[in-house]
Amino acid sequence: MPTITNHMPTAELQALDAAHHMHPFSTQDGFRKKGARVIRSAEGVWLTDSEGHRILDGMAGLWCVNIGYGRTELADVAARQMRELPYYNTFFQTTHVPAIALSAKLAELAPGDLNHVFFAGSGSEANDTNLRMVRHYWSSLGKPEKSVVISRLNAYHGSTLGGASLGGMIPMHEQGGLPIPDIHHIGQPNWWAEGGDMTPEEFGIARARELEAAIEEIGEDRIAAFIAEPFQGAGGVIIPPDSYWPEIKRILEGRDILLIADEVICGFGRTGNWFGSQTLGIQPDIMTIAKGLSSGYQPIGGSIVSSKVAKVLAEDEFNHGYTYSGHPVAAAVALENLRIMEEERVIDHVRDVAAPYLREKWESLTEHPLVGEAKIVGLMGSIALTPDKASRAAFAAPAGTAGFITRERCFANNLIMRHVYDRMIIAPPLVIRPEEIDILIERAWQSLDESMARLKEEGLLKAAA
Ligand SMILES: *Cc1c(COP(=O)(O)O)cnc(C)c1O
Repeated sequence: MPTITNHMPTAELQALDAAHHMHPFSTQDGFRKKGARVIRSAEGVWLTDSEGHRILDGMAGLWCVNIGYGRTELADVAARQMRELPYYNTFFQTTHVPAIALSAKLAELAPGDLNHVFFAGSGSEANDTNLRMVRHYWSSLGKPEKSVVISRLNAYHGSTLGGASLGGMIPMHEQGGLPIPDIHHIGQPNWWAEGGDMTPEEFGIARARELEAAIEEIGEDRIAAFIAEPFQGAGGVIIPPDSYWPEIKRILEGRDILLIADEVICGFGRTGNWFGSQTLGIQPDIMTIAKGLSSGYQPIGGSIVSSKVAKVLAEDEFNHGYTYSGHPVAAAVALENLRIMEEERVIDHVRDVAAPYLREKWESLTEHPLVGEAKIVGLMGSIALTPDKASRAAFAAPAGTAGFITRERCFANNLIMRHVYDRMIIAPPLVIRPEEIDILIERAWQSLDESMARLKEEGLLKAAA
C-alpha cells in the first residue's frame, strides 16, 4: 500500500475511506456512493478541503473549536509537553503540573463552590463519571436507594452506555438496549415543535413541572440527580422559554436532588459567559465539560464538582478513573487555550460584538418563506424549517427530509450548517468576525432559496396532516 497523503487524488482518498473507515453517526453505504468530504487544513473559521474549496465552518467542528483553527501556540505547548512528560497517570497518589494547573484554573473560572475537577477524555466519559459519582455520593450518605437520574427527551449527553442512557435520543436508545436502569426522561422545552396552543411562557412552566410530577411519582428518596444542558445543543439548539429555568430552580430548591449541568457545549464562552449556567443564573452541583475546554485541539473532558459533593466523596475510595484522566498533553493544551481566551478577551468579543451582530442577522432569516422561528443565545442558533409558519406545521415528508436537503445546499455553497431533523443549527467559532457573519448569513439565505426550490420541485413543500 502506498503512503496515504494529502496529495492523493480526492477520489482515491474517498475510496479508501469508504473501504476501511467506519464513521460515527453515519450510514456507511452513503460514503460508498458519494464519498466523504476530505478536509485538509483550516485557519480561523475557514476549512479547506482536498479540492481547494474554502468552507465557512458554522459549527466550529463539532461545537468545539471555540478559539478558531490555526493557533500554533497550542501546537507549541503540546510539543513542549510531549518532550518533557508525554504521559503519566494520576492514579496511586501521583500528579503532575498540567493536571494541577488546569484543575486550579477551572476552579477559579467555575461559579460558586465548584472547586474540584475529575478529568476524563471526553464529554461522554465525564457523564459516565457523573452518573457513578452521584449514585456513590448518595450511597456514601447512607441512601443507596437514591439512584434515579432524571433527564430529558431529546437531550444529548454523549454516546457511551451511560451518556446515551442519560441522553434522551430515541434512535440511540433503540440500538444496544438502552437506557440502562434508573434513568427517567421527562419532556423537553421545545415550544416550536411541542408547545401546541400554549404560549411559550405557559409551555415553559408546564415542561418544568414535569420534573415536579416525576419527583412526586418516583419519590424524592429515590432520586439522585437531575441532568440537563443549559441550552440543548445536539437536540437542535432548543432555547427554552424564559419561564423554564426559574421554574426548574424553584422545584429543586430545598429538595435533596443534585443538579448536573452538562456544559459540554455551553461552557467556555458559547453563550457569552464562561458557562451557560451563569447565563441562566443557576448553580449546579456538578458541571460536565469537554469540547471548548481545549477548543478541540486535544481530546479532554471532565466534571467540575462542588465542595459539598467532593467532601463526601473524599471519605472513601471512588473506584473509578481513566488511563487518560488529566492527560498532561491534553491538560497543557487546554490551559493554553484558556490563557488565550482570557488574554484576547474572547468572551467579551462574543458578548459585545459577535453575538449581538449575529442575533440581528440570524433573526432576519425568519423573513425567508421556509423559516418559522429563529432562536439564538450567544453564538449558538437554530432555525425551524416549515411549510406553514402560521400553524408551525411540520412537513408531510419524513422528519429530516427538508433539513437534509438544506444541509446539502449549504455544503454546496461552502457553508457548514448542520440539520437536526428539520431544524438548521449553527455554532461558529467564537472568534468569528462581523464580515464573516455576513458571509455566513448570505450563504445560509442562498441555501434556503435553493432548498425551497428543490422542495417545491419535488412536491415536498406540504404540511403534515
Ligand atoms: C458532545 C456532547 C457530549 C459528549 O461529548 P463527547 O466528547 O463527544 O463524548 C456530552 N454532552 C453534550 C451536551 C454534548 O454536546
